[in-house]
Amino acid sequence: MAVKQAQVMVVTPHPDDAEFGVAGTVARWVKEGKDVVYVVCANGDKGYHDINMKPEKLVEIREQEQLAAARLLGVREVIFLRHSDQSLEDTPEFRKEIVRLIRMYRPDTVVTADPYRRYIWHRDHRIVGQVTLDAIFPYARDHLSYPDLLEGGLQPHKVKEVLLWAAPEDINYRSDITDTFDIKLAALRCHKSQVGNNQLPDLENWLKQRAKKMAEGQDFELAEAFHRVEITW
Ligand SMILES: [Zn+2]
Repeated sequence: MAVKQAQVMVVTPHPDDAEFGVAGTVARWVKEGKDVVYVVCANGDKGYHDINMKPEKLVEIREQEQLAAARLLGVREVIFLRHSDQSLEDTPEFRKEIVRLIRMYRPDTVVTADPYRRYIWHRDHRIVGQVTLDAIFPYARDHLSYPDLLEGGLQPHKVKEVLLWAAPEDINYRSDITDTFDIKLAALRCHKSQVGNNQLPDLENWLKQRAKKMAEGQDFELAEAFHRVEITW
């Protein structure tokens, strides 16, 4: 299995979550010359208002929308794991999928959803965050975990930092998106089946207010905010 080094890996539960969580920062990283890859775990086949929409059609639409958003942001590659929405579980198989990708792409930084958000939180988000954290440490790092990956040529890998989005009570890292906020909005607009035109003005206004609030006390105007974990062991 060939290694395809990228500095940043974003592991997102559904199409559009990464755009809400980290797209402004992704656009800035790409401008700085970093390679960013997306891993989209679930296929978006459940969340839609029209009862006549076929799930297979929805999956196709959501992948095209995600690819359009990624293209706009300059994401190098999008990997679709194509699990059904609301079916993700914390299993050795799912963990292995993420371990395999971490060892293949060897990122310094992994970004995902905070699994520890309290009370009402989409189960897929909770599971993806938890499985990704576990995959990073210790499974991607230890050569005896999933020995067939090593036999297949995927060496252990140490991720240096994790950024978790949607961690409102525990923010310790604010990323400057002042110059890339508009690209974030444009990327969100690509998700037409999730972000309807009539919702857009309210949504954009809400995102701007939130980005301003996240930048309070900083020397820049707009931010995305995360809980950052540095991995030094
Ligand atoms: Zn989601």
